[in-house]
Amino acid sequence: MNARFSLLIWSAVWLCLPASAQREEATTRDARFRQTVEEKFADWVELRRDIHRHPELSNEEKRTSALVAERLKALGLEVKTGVAKHGVVALLKGQSEGPCVAVRADMDALPIKELRSTPYRSQNPGVMHACGHDVHTTCALALAELLHRHKDQLRGSVKFLFQPAEEAMPATFQGDWGAKLMVAEGAMESPKPIAVFGLHTAAIVQPAGTTDDDVHYLKAGQIGYTPGIDNANSDRFHITIHGKMAHGSAPHKGVDAIAVAAEAIMALQLIKSRQTNTRQPLVISIGTIQGGQRENIIAEKVEMGGTVRTYDAAFRDSVIEQMHRVLKGTTEAHGARYEMDYRKTYPSIINDRKLVEATLPSFRRLFGSENVLELIPGMGGEDFSFFAQVVPGFYFRLGVANEEKGITAGGHTPLYDCDEESIKTGVLALAAAVCDSLAAATVK
Ligand SMILES: [Zn+2]
Ligand SMILES: [Zn+2]
Repeated sequence: MNARFSLLIWSAVWLCLPASAQREEATTRDARFRQTVEEKFADWVELRRDIHRHPELSNEEKRTSALVAERLKALGLEVKTGVAKHGVVALLKGQSEGPCVAVRADMDALPIKELRSTPYRSQNPGVMHACGHDVHTTCALALAELLHRHKDQLRGSVKFLFQPAEEAMPATFQGDWGAKLMVAEGAMESPKPIAVFGLHTAAIVQPAGTTDDDVHYLKAGQIGYTPGIDNANSDRFHITIHGKMAHGSAPHKGVDAIAVAAEAIMALQLIKSRQTNTRQPLVISIGTIQGGQRENIIAEKVEMGGTVRTYDAAFRDSVIEQMHRVLKGTTEAHGARYEMDYRKTYPSIINDRKLVEATLPSFRRLFGSENVLELIPGMGGEDFSFFAQVVPGFYFRLGVANEEKGITAGGHTPLYDCDEESIKTGVLALAAAVCDSLAAATVK
């Protein structure tokens, strides 16, 4: 049976099914998936602990990547390694022909010393899975194993995107990395998926309708989502202010780069409060500053590094222009000059509204409506956006908090951890998202 004919048959069968029968089919499938998840859970916890014990920094994910490729090959999947350095792309074909849906999992860890004393704590000193990418990798591998066992439920294929270097490379790094490089190397082609899903662990979130003052935990068993804009354009800049050196006792003979930098920093903050529409979210943060040689020398040079966060792409461009204007004005006013190296690092993740709407019923069916929470978008950055720029994407949060187990710390901190029960939720959520979107696509 050729692919098109098979697709037609599936579509005809699916269309003929009344809505209640479709729901019943999904519910039967959920029960089968749950059973497999329970059977395999202990193995997946061990897998997660293995990855957690051996965290690797961005673009150094050799061991993790080898482990991923080995497990996927053991399932008989088509596996491509060495994508964007240590990325792995694999294709799982269902029993019937149909479109392809992609799932992304990032694999890298952070330069943080782990402080929680668990049996699975990091064995790589100063490196830690403090962003939950160990759980992301586990969920995607577990998904491959689950769907491999239930291939009959798959109307098409699933592309797995195991990604290196999500946490970004140092500012001195030249070239592209992570998701952007995977896309450039063709990870989203042959076959091109119709949608891409990704999850991210979260312990603390801000649900829609709440204020920043309260702490809200996203518990294991819960899912969080945003219906459109999910996070920010995340950029970096490096500014150098050039003055003129002089004796500290005779500042009039030089140009004090430190005094000019101080004025420039304050003026940059006025962009947000006085020069842009207050309805447009904007963050300009300066995180590093270095300058001067000695207490009695007028500094010749100051270097500053920082980040800019916005949602809108055109607004982002206008902010860059305003930064140049402010820097030019403040430096010229004092006889100094400046250089700014501004890099657009990660574009904002914008979830596809239709895909979100189509997926939420699956999540509510599986976990109950009370456990599927709409969230307020944050100003963080994530390079899942590069995949979601190619095809419609849905990036959601996987709750990992558990107050009774003392798992309440936020990401990128030395106490971060994930309640392993969340692996079950992650696998089931991804499996439903994939199967339902493939089934829906064959109807069109
Ligand atoms: Zn992170
Ligand atoms: Zn992360």
